[in-house]
Amino acid sequence: MQDLKQMWDKVLSKLESMVSFVSYELWIETLEVLDYNDKLVLVANSPSAKRQLLKNHSKELTEAIESVFGENTQYEVLDPEEKEEYLKKNKPQEVVIEPDESKRMMFNPKYTFDNFIVGKSNQFCYAAARAVAENPGHKFNPLFIYGGVGLGKTHLLHAIGNYLKQSNPKLKIEYVTCDQFTNDYIESLGTNKEKGSVKGTAQFREKYRNLDVLMVDDIQFIAGRTSTQEEFFHTFNDLYQQNKQIIISSDRPPKEIETLADRLVSRLTSGLIQDIQMPDFETRVAILRKKAQLERYFIDDDVIEFIAEKVDTNIREMEGLLSKVYFFATLLGKKSASIEEAKEALKEQVDVKKEKLTPEIIIQTVCDYYSIGYNEITGKKKSKEIVEPRMIAIYLISDMLDIPLVTIGKLFGGRDHTTIIHSRDKITELMKKDHKTRTIVNDLKSQISEKC
Ligand code: ADP
Ligand code: MG
Repeated sequence: MQDLKQMWDKVLSKLESMVSFVSYELWIETLEVLDYNDKLVLVANSPSAKRQLLKNHSKELTEAIESVFGENTQYEVLDPEEKEEYLKKNKPQEVVIEPDESKRMMFNPKYTFDNFIVGKSNQFCYAAARAVAENPGHKFNPLFIYGGVGLGKTHLLHAIGNYLKQSNPKLKIEYVTCDQFTNDYIESLGTNKEKGSVKGTAQFREKYRNLDVLMVDDIQFIAGRTSTQEEFFHTFNDLYQQNKQIIISSDRPPKEIETLADRLVSRLTSGLIQDIQMPDFETRVAILRKKAQLERYFIDDDVIEFIAEKVDTNIREMEGLLSKVYFFATLLGKKSASIEEAKEALKEQVDVKKEKLTPEIIIQTVCDYYSIGYNEITGKKKSKEIVEPRMIAIYLISDMLDIPLVTIGKLFGGRDHTTIIHSRDKITELMKKDHKTRTIVNDLKSQISEKC
């Protein structure tokens, strides 16, 4: 029999191309293979990961497992508590395969320069990152990138890493989040003072001060961590003096990180400080198209534009909506979702009603209600079937929107404001007396409110 690890790796690589990147990272790559006897026993890292995996991907999991282990291979997914139970009753036949932690440290292969869409909001950041990747330690040292959440800072850091790994595999590169750096440092101090703290610190220094490139993501979390700041300061100086490249990201510029020691602020500001902003609509559309292409989602352009329009502060959030629409379509058994289905899929996240109320929406709703044309209602015809809807539309516009009567007149083929007043008052009167008119107007109002 083939080595279980090799077989599991095959299953993983199949699954990688079958599910979205997010699902793979969250629920599949993190699986542990506990046993393989009459069936394959897998362990998810939490009950919710187990639930999500089985809910969303049991079909893919079955297919991938069967294609490697043979048809009708049974499998079971346990959560950590169930694993304990299982181990009390069974002794696993094979060596347990833990999820590969080292893989998680690697740069995300999808975060490359090629996959980064450049627009006005991020062009300088992109150019600086690229320059650093092409020539580390020479230009822009340190490079300090700052900007709000989900705007591409981590993507650019990984892009530098991916680029360097390929162009110069011998370079020693370390990418850490601020929390990882802090934890590494705290661990190096040892849990008890007698035991190995000197050795631990030496190891820590050995690791961080012999690097060619150090990247620290989200450095703002160093605020208030005095001794970590102190250690970082020395690491920084050491590397900097050897012309080693330092790249930092943060959600704000150095000066605005509270309790950041002055000398550290001045070190961080000594190179290039570059901000990254939310991309404009066109760039957001291009980013979504790229994402859809990378994840192999079929998403129509009008849906992409709808999402790009609704989210204007965070690209990660925008991408989340894209996956949501895709999953929704899959649940419906369709290849891609229509705009209506997309709105339905996103109704909890996006304020679909946000569409601004305009007189045109009101006019159109009235036209649809009476099955008459937009040109007819705004035109000159005086027949009863047109006049009444026209007056109702005028009434609704003046009631629901705060716009001048003259402007309303213009919308209706340049009628003067006295005609508008007349129509409005006429309907007001009718509504008092006539039950039917009242019902129609209220119906229309609720239809309009549903849209806006
Ligand atoms: P940050 O680190 O600033 O919070 P990330 O780098 O994690 O943000 O980006 C969030 C998501 O948005 C990632 O999936 C990333 O690939 C994507 N993204 C951000 N900017 C761009 C861009 N210009 N082109 C393509 N994808 C982008
Ligand atoms: Mg980030």
